[in-house]
Amino acid sequence: MDWLSNLLMPEGKFLGIEWHVWKVVGWLGNLTFFSRFVVQWYYTEKLKKVVIPVAFWWFSLAGASILFSYAAFHKKDSVFIFAYAFTFIPYIRNLIIHHRHLDTHVLCPGCQVESPPSARFCCDCGTRLPCESKPADAAA
Ligand SMILES: [Zn+2]
Repeated sequence: MDWLSNLLMPEGKFLGIEWHVWKVVGWLGNLTFFSRFVVQWYYTEKLKKVVIPVAFWWFSLAGASILFSYAAFHKKDSVFIFAYAFTFIPYIRNLIIHHRHLDTHVLCPGCQVESPPSARFCCDCGTRLPCESKPADAAA
């Protein structure tokens, strides 16, 4: 088992890396940021078309935030800080647009399933949907 110990922990460092709290934060950020690609690829393969699921934007936001804190508070490297300083803008904007789009979906009075805003019939049971597709408070 010494060969395994030497492989995983050469010179007492796990995977050759000297670990401390900020190193864990940085790797957690890397793992979170990388997860967005796994999620996007999974849904693309599942649906057999290129899609960007909402989880992609959440993983992007979380991963970039963690990496930004690593860059700003630990590395204090201006290049690294700048790389993550503004990426949250499109992530948050896409999440806002996604939730606004969901809010305009039409609830079927028959089966309570939501259909896209442009749908005239329920995508689940086929019931004719109400013509007014906007929420009542938006019309005021
Ligand atoms: Zn329905």
